[in-house]
Amino acid sequence: MSSPNIRNICIIAHVDHGKTTLVDHLLRQAGTYKSHEVMTERVMDSDDQEKERGITISAKNASFKIGDTKVNVVDTPGHADFGGEVERIMGMVDGAILLVDAAEGPLPQTRFVLEKAIQKNLKIILCINKVDRPEVQDTDMISKVIDKTFELFVELNASDEQCDFPILYACAKLGWCTTDADRVDALVKGTDKGNFADIYDLIMNLPAPKVMDSDKFTLLVTNVAYSDYVGFLAVGRVVSGTVKQGDQLIRFTVDSQGKEVREKFQAQKLFVFDGLRQKPCDIIEMGDIGLIAGGSEYMIGDTVGSEGCEVLPRISVEEPTMRMIFSVNTSPNSGTNGKAIQSRELRDRLIREIRNNVALKMDPTDEQDQFYLLGRGELQFSIIIEKLRREGLEFMVGRPSVVYKKGENGERLEPYEKLTIDVPEVSAGDVTNMFQLRKGFLTSYEQQNNASSDPRVRITIEIPTRGILGMQSRFKTITKGSGIISSEAIGYRPHQGEILHRITGSIIADRLGKTTAYALAGIQDRGMLFIGEAVDVYEGMVIGEGNKDNDINVNVCRPKKLTNVRSVSSDGITILHGLKKMSLEQYIEWIDADEWIEVTPNVIRVRKKILPANLRSVRRQDRDD
Ligand code: GDP
Repeated sequence: MSSPNIRNICIIAHVDHGKTTLVDHLLRQAGTYKSHEVMTERVMDSDDQEKERGITISAKNASFKIGDTKVNVVDTPGHADFGGEVERIMGMVDGAILLVDAAEGPLPQTRFVLEKAIQKNLKIILCINKVDRPEVQDTDMISKVIDKTFELFVELNASDEQCDFPILYACAKLGWCTTDADRVDALVKGTDKGNFADIYDLIMNLPAPKVMDSDKFTLLVTNVAYSDYVGFLAVGRVVSGTVKQGDQLIRFTVDSQGKEVREKFQAQKLFVFDGLRQKPCDIIEMGDIGLIAGGSEYMIGDTVGSEGCEVLPRISVEEPTMRMIFSVNTSPNSGTNGKAIQSRELRDRLIREIRNNVALKMDPTDEQDQFYLLGRGELQFSIIIEKLRREGLEFMVGRPSVVYKKGENGERLEPYEKLTIDVPEVSAGDVTNMFQLRKGFLTSYEQQNNASSDPRVRITIEIPTRGILGMQSRFKTITKGSGIISSEAIGYRPHQGEILHRITGSIIADRLGKTTAYALAGIQDRGMLFIGEAVDVYEGMVIGEGNKDNDINVNVCRPKKLTNVRSVSSDGITILHGLKKMSLEQYIEWIDADEWIEVTPNVIRVRKKILPANLRSVRRQDRDD
């Protein structure tokens, strides 16, 4: 059987190393853009949040042609919270371009994705980008980057063949690259003119998609999507045969008990990637990546095929281990800032989100206007909260918690994570200590680069998922922002008892009104305030973090009394110390189980779940949920 005239590849790159620019030129020089199309600056990372956070959140695909060969570029999310997705994407491609900035070298963040690529036995091309940067003074520096990359491959147990990677020297910005190190100087100086011919040649040398020796159509569902127009879509690579619009197909899936189930359906619409779009088509060829509409709710790991096709082994999707309650906004200020949505709307909005994000699930709670959103990490949750907030919605979210299970003898089990941590050696002790205090245990400790002036270590720790909740900012502070952490779910183990979340209580407004500087000044020594004067507050709203372990209810609206008696203190100017301004992520890490974050387009507040002070205890006990 002849191989398909297709190459499926992914690009592994640290943010800012030039992935978007490279894809842009790959498409442009291949003539993918039509003359009337306006190119956006960053073709792949189009989401606002992706730009701000500098990470790829959802994978988008692009495609172009080299002669008659179609190339699909599958985008990979770069963060460990999306680990499951990275793994599945790697299953669709046969080769990868590892893009490395010539001045910065390979950075630890790309290690996670590169490791998966190596394990999947992908053929990898090293592309050293930005060789034109003024910091890159000589080819010696580039050689060092190559050596470092080679060391990384060895460390990640790459095969001899993988370690023998082809090398490209590139200036993606100006649209040239070369395999010939001797040409770099002239190309940078502009005395030689280059293009993308060498990268196209190397992509052509990557293996064609592996296909099965069968003429029956078979596709493994690697991702699912939803469109308001055509409904559920199965995304995947065609492993054998071809599919035409109108074909009778079968979806091989499993029910909630894991029993095999078949569903017959008709391929109503087909799409392939074309440039940056999904293009409707009549046929999806063997080896190509495409989308099929027609079946009902597809599940990742399903096989879709024609009668008599081979059912492929299911691929696993990591089960959600964390959950967060999303609630209708019931605060007194609800609807004053954005659109306060009702229960049905909130549910429908969350359903839309989980349809396009397989790592998420939704469960009902005992309350009609509250829903559990289940996922794999705090980052996933904060991205969704931010997305809804930017749509102008008002709602509330609770503290993230873990999903418990019951063991065979009814004992409580909790999810565990394996953390892989890359940190400068100087902060290794503090980091280990921090996680050990939270019931983690060290399983390995390895020196990474002894000879370097900035030696780093790689630590692995096994820890209850609860132990990593709310630890991101502490980790960043301890490692001065240069630590990298990735986590992987490793199943359920017996519950480890209480893990201390926060040792301080909240300072809470005891009435509706506007804050005064006078009142705030009177209480500011009792903790750290989150808000300043002239802010609308209500009873039960948290306005700061106390020094003591219990909560305190305070009047922050008290006006200054005017008296005839003058004294130095009462006439003195009120001075407020600095406020503690918290971001959404910080609030998510900070709040306790009996508190909500009230999310509105302009303001993020924290409040007690029970607002009236007389119905709520100030003692901070038994708040572990
Ligand atoms: P991404 O985050 O990996 O998608 O990176 P981008 O493609 O957005 O590039 C990040 C920055 O690097 C942009 O300002 C680009 O213009 C710049 N850049 C990309 N390629 C090159 C290059 O070859 N040389 C130089 N000097 N800058 C580049």
